[in-house]
Amino acid sequence: MKLKTIAAASAALSFVALAHADTAPEHVTVVRAGHLVDTVAGKMLNDQTIVITGERITEVGPTGSVSVPAGAETIDLSRSTVLPGLIDAHTHLTGDPWLSGYRSLGVSDIRAAMFGVQSARRTLEAGFTTVRNVGASGFGDVALRDAINDGEVEGPRMRVSAYPIGIQGGHCDNNLLPHDFHYTEEGVADNPWQGRAKVRQMAKFGADVIKICASGGVLSKGDEAGAQQLTLEEMKAIVEEAHKLGRKVAAHAHGASSIRDAILAGVDSVEHGSLIDDEGIRLAKEHGTFLVMDIYNDDFILQEGAKAGMLPESLEKERKVGQLQRDNFRKAWKAGVKMAFGTDAGVYPHGDNARQFYYMVKYGMTPMQAIQAATINGADLLGWKDRIGSVTPGKYADLIAVNGDPLLDPAELTHVKFVMKGGAVVKGKPGKE
Ligand SMILES: [Zn+2]
Repeated sequence: MKLKTIAAASAALSFVALAHADTAPEHVTVVRAGHLVDTVAGKMLNDQTIVITGERITEVGPTGSVSVPAGAETIDLSRSTVLPGLIDAHTHLTGDPWLSGYRSLGVSDIRAAMFGVQSARRTLEAGFTTVRNVGASGFGDVALRDAINDGEVEGPRMRVSAYPIGIQGGHCDNNLLPHDFHYTEEGVADNPWQGRAKVRQMAKFGADVIKICASGGVLSKGDEAGAQQLTLEEMKAIVEEAHKLGRKVAAHAHGASSIRDAILAGVDSVEHGSLIDDEGIRLAKEHGTFLVMDIYNDDFILQEGAKAGMLPESLEKERKVGQLQRDNFRKAWKAGVKMAFGTDAGVYPHGDNARQFYYMVKYGMTPMQAIQAATINGADLLGWKDRIGSVTPGKYADLIAVNGDPLLDPAELTHVKFVMKGGAVVKGKPGKE
């Protein structure tokens, strides 16, 4: 017995030694940044050196004060501005904007997931190294996240919700087909316990976050964007269940009463927030609820929506809420509500995410504040403050670079030249700008 134990122990030890010998020392990369956006302090730093060991940042400081390990690979971005990888807190990577309305009925869940492979790469190459994907069919977002994590597909880090949860006939249902087809979307819940069951189902099959539809929507058939859908009682049950299972809740909500009840139910973020009123603004501040307001995509919907197959009623709804949403963005930001950058990519073409910075600045943020919304604030909302959102030792080496100064012109962020995710360069040749 004793001998057997010793033999097992020595076998285990030699296995450990062998495994150790097989592991090459972690690759060290040094990035020289001409300018570096410090998203924590909210200021621009000059002439910085970033040391990356494996997939994490290990040291950051003024060039010359940081000791560069021998044999480290150097990436020269001394004529560029470096930022932490951007975070879009509201995407639909499996959604094709050109297959909207009735065209969407011809797309299988598997086909949508395959479309997501291309969207993921485009999003990453646009400088968005992390997304929170809030709504996908067939658990395609779960599959996409896992394929990215396993290195089979190139894309951003993903937090995913799977099916969004909402009422029968609501924004999260699919109302395109008549009764004959007996089609109901997977996320439909019509009372508090059905809501809890749906949370459990999404969590079981891989959701990191729960998405709910508190109100009607622009792109859904037969509902009013501003009208409340889930009741306070239903949302309370869903939020309690989700938080119990360690999942945050994102609530799609356009109308004032749906925003109010979603906040009172304890959701972590309100998506769209188009018709938020003074009470909603006060409650969001009081509860620390994030607003994620997609104020770029109105342009795409109004200009290209008809060509993309969007329903005439959707275009009509967009004309009603689009400008109000932008005005309310300004009002809520001025009042001091927490905001994270989220665009609803998938409603418009993937990779154009950074176009929203222009509007966030136009409607009241400084360029630095807009960048912070897409970095540290997004990291906070995603529950990933410890790993992304700033160029700080200990965090993933998710870096992007642009040629000009994004604090002078936020449109620079629509021309990202260099992207690194977890220490690996995915766009831009090292040493050459
Ligand atoms: Zn959305």
